[in-house]
Amino acid sequence: MEFRVKCTDGNARCGMVRTAHGTFQTPAFMPVGTQGTVKTMTQRSLEEIGAEIILSNTYHLYLRPGIEILRQAGGLHKFMNWSHPILTDSGGYQVFSLSDLRKIEEEGVSFRSHLDGSLHLFTPEKVIDIQRHIGSDIMMVLDECTPYPCTKDYANSSNELTLRWAQRCKDRLTSSPELYGHAQTLFAIVQGSAFEDIREHSARVLTGMNFEGYAIGGLAVGEPADQMYAMIEVCNNILPATKPRYLMGVGTPENLLEAIERGVDMFDCVMPTRNGRNAQLFTRSGVVNITNERYKDDFTPVDEECDCYTCYNYTRAYLRHLFMVKEILGLQLATLHNLSYYQWVVRSARQAIRDRRYKDWKTGQLSRSKQENTLLSTN
Ligand SMILES: [Zn+2]
Repeated sequence: MEFRVKCTDGNARCGMVRTAHGTFQTPAFMPVGTQGTVKTMTQRSLEEIGAEIILSNTYHLYLRPGIEILRQAGGLHKFMNWSHPILTDSGGYQVFSLSDLRKIEEEGVSFRSHLDGSLHLFTPEKVIDIQRHIGSDIMMVLDECTPYPCTKDYANSSNELTLRWAQRCKDRLTSSPELYGHAQTLFAIVQGSAFEDIREHSARVLTGMNFEGYAIGGLAVGEPADQMYAMIEVCNNILPATKPRYLMGVGTPENLLEAIERGVDMFDCVMPTRNGRNAQLFTRSGVVNITNERYKDDFTPVDEECDCYTCYNYTRAYLRHLFMVKEILGLQLATLHNLSYYQWVVRSARQAIRDRRYKDWKTGQLSRSKQENTLLSTN
């Protein structure tokens, strides 16, 4: 993997990451394809909206279809017909959020499947092996995502375990072969809850292990946004400027803009897809709940400035109708628009960084994005 920062504006960076399956530009937003599919989207549509990398999920793919099917298919790229970069998370977050009866020990974490109750053990070595079978371009280490809030003692011992697991993941990576003839790389994850000194310690130790990229995990789990931004600053002050930084599971368009300003390069979040399926549309002037009665005879596009297929061809009134009668096309058009909007956010951010006017652009965009919300709350 190769990472190049092409230009900076303050702490914001614009660059590119080269993988065995092509390059993606940063800041990048990765649509979430949990089960080897970005819900309602064809792979062709993902290419059309400019998605250059997607995220998939080790925990879910391990349970279904299972690593043997993935191996027979020749890896996830071939299985799902996606020839561009894929990043997989390690499954740690899902083990801690979805499964029952999990038990954390030095060896790893044992858990029961949320599907059938069957018992499984994820060790650092095992999640690397699974990600070898998936064939993702960027793999993630096994970590423990602490609940928020948690005590400092808990955050500290959990983080120490995550650091030991990171080293074991790295050792496994170097001692295990690629299965499909393309290079795979591994990112570490900084934890430490909302404690500055633990975050600093985590970032320092992981930097010393020399990973090819670093994620900031365990944020957007219920803490105030200001605290999240403060933790991002703490981590990015230490993480090397020459490696990509990935803020996991975040967030709203506003979160993205604030994090980009603080030097984050990569994002993933279910928000554009999940909220889209729940009739929430992100626009340049704010969030629109399309089932609201006020849109029943609104024959304008979802977002006048959006060039996506949805906005180019359909009206708010028609989208509202599709949601009211529960037609599948509504979910498709809403998802397509929301993902297009998120791609626009990162594309525009890159341009603003290149033009060295990032802060002004961000401020303008944030004040603009309050318009629709204000209208909704005052009517
Ligand atoms: Zn659109």
